[in-house]
Amino acid sequence: MEKIKLKSYLGLYSLPVFILFSILVLGFQYNREKQYKADLLNTKLEDANIMLSKFLESVDGSIPKFDSLIALSPYANLRISLVDSKGKVLYDNVVKNVSKMENHLSRAEFVQAKKRGSGSEIRTSHTNKITYYYHVNRFGSYYVRSSLPYNMEVNELLSPNNLFLYFMLFLSFIIISVLFYLSNKLSVKMQREQIEHDATVRRHLTQQVAHELKTPLSSIIGYMETLQNNPNIGIEKQLFFIDRSYTQAVRLNDLLHDILTLNQLNEAPKTVEKEPFLLNKIIENVINDVSLKLVENNIHVETTIDGDIWIRANAMLVYSIFRNLMDNAIAYAGKNINIQIQLSSDDSKFYHFIFSDSGLGVDEKHTNYLFDRFYRVDKGRSRKNGGTGLGLAIVKNAIEFHGGKITVRNKEEGGLEFRFSIRK
Ligand code: ADP
Repeated sequence: MEKIKLKSYLGLYSLPVFILFSILVLGFQYNREKQYKADLLNTKLEDANIMLSKFLESVDGSIPKFDSLIALSPYANLRISLVDSKGKVLYDNVVKNVSKMENHLSRAEFVQAKKRGSGSEIRTSHTNKITYYYHVNRFGSYYVRSSLPYNMEVNELLSPNNLFLYFMLFLSFIIISVLFYLSNKLSVKMQREQIEHDATVRRHLTQQVAHELKTPLSSIIGYMETLQNNPNIGIEKQLFFIDRSYTQAVRLNDLLHDILTLNQLNEAPKTVEKEPFLLNKIIENVINDVSLKLVENNIHVETTIDGDIWIRANAMLVYSIFRNLMDNAIAYAGKNINIQIQLSSDDSKFYHFIFSDSGLGVDEKHTNYLFDRFYRVDKGRSRKNGGTGLGLAIVKNAIEFHGGKITVRNKEEGGLEFRFSIRK
C-alpha cells in the first residue's frame, strides 16, 4: 500500500509541482526583467532631469534658455516640463501657452514624486493626445519631468530581454521530460515490485491457510481410517471417533467461514452491504448468545451505553466484532472476571468504544501482533477453545471497513482493553 502511495505521489504530484514552480520562476524572472528595463529607462530620463535642474540652477531659473538645451538631448522627441511645488506648469517645450495647462499635482507620476522623490507613468497627454512615458523628479521647490512618446522605440526599450526566458523555458521542458521519463520508469518498477510483494504475501497466506486446514483434515482422515480398518471396535469407541471427526469438521467450517469473511473484506469490500440498524440490539444479541458460557465461567458483563446508537453498517460484521471480542474474553481472560462494554465518547463522525476485561491480559511482547492473521499467544489453548487465529484479524478488518481504528493494551489493574471507533 505504501509503495502504491509513493508511486502516485511521484507520478501525480511531483510533475505538476515542478511545472507550477517553473511557471512561478519564469513569471518572477519576466517581471524582474521588465522592472529592470523600466529602471533603465527611468535612469536615462532621470539623468536628463538632473541635467536640466543643474542647468536651471546655473542660469538662475531663467526658463527661456531651456529650449536650447533640449537640442543637446539624445532623444529628438523628448518633452520637458517644469512644474512648481504647487503643481503649476511653468514651462513645457511642446505647449506654447502653459498658463492654460491644468494643475499637475494630481497626475500619477507627480503623486509618486511628491512621496518618493521620483515617479513615472505611461499616459495619454491631456494637452496633445499623444501617449507618453513620463518620468518626473522633485528638486526642492520644483519638479522636472522628461517624457518620451510611447512609440515602438520606447516599447522596445521597455520590453524585457526574452532570451533568458526562452532558455529557462527550454531548460524546464528538458527537466520536465526527464522527470516524466524517470517517474514513469520508477512507477513501472514500483508496480512490478508491488505485484511481486502481493504475490509473496498471497503465497505466504495460502501456505498458512493450507497449514491450518491440514490439521483438522488429517485428524478427520485419521479417525475415518481407524473406523474403516477396525470394523469390530466397540460402539463407544466408534461414537468417540465420529464425535472427534465432527468437532474437526466444525473447526474446518469455522476456519473457512473466517477465511471467506476476511477475503471479502480485503478483496471485495464493495460487495459488503450496509444498512441502518440499532447497535444496542446487536450487543444485546451477543450477550444473549453467550449467556450460558458467561454463567459457566462466572463472568459479569457491564454495558455502559446511554441512549440508542443508530449506525449505518453491516450488521453481520458488527456482530462479529463484538462476538469475537466477547468469545476471546471468555476463552482467554479466565473465570470470575468482569467484562465492560462502554461507549466512551462520540463526535460528529464516530462512536468510540472501550471493550475491556479484568482478566489475565497477555504478555506485553504479544500486543503488537494480536491482530495478525493466525497469530495466537498459546496455540494449544486457542485450538482447544475452537479458535481459528483469525478472530482479531476479522475484528480489525471489520472496524477498518467501517472507517474506524482499533488499539489494544494491557490495563494496569490487569486485563485486556480494546479501544475502537465505528463510523456513525
Ligand atoms: P484465536 O482464534 O486464537 O482466538 P484471535 O485472533 O481471536 O485468535 O486472538 C489472538 C490471540 O489473542 C488469542 O490466541 C489469545 O491468546 C489472545 N487474546 C485475545 N483476546 C484476549 C483476551 N481478552 N485476554 C487474553 N488474551 C486474549
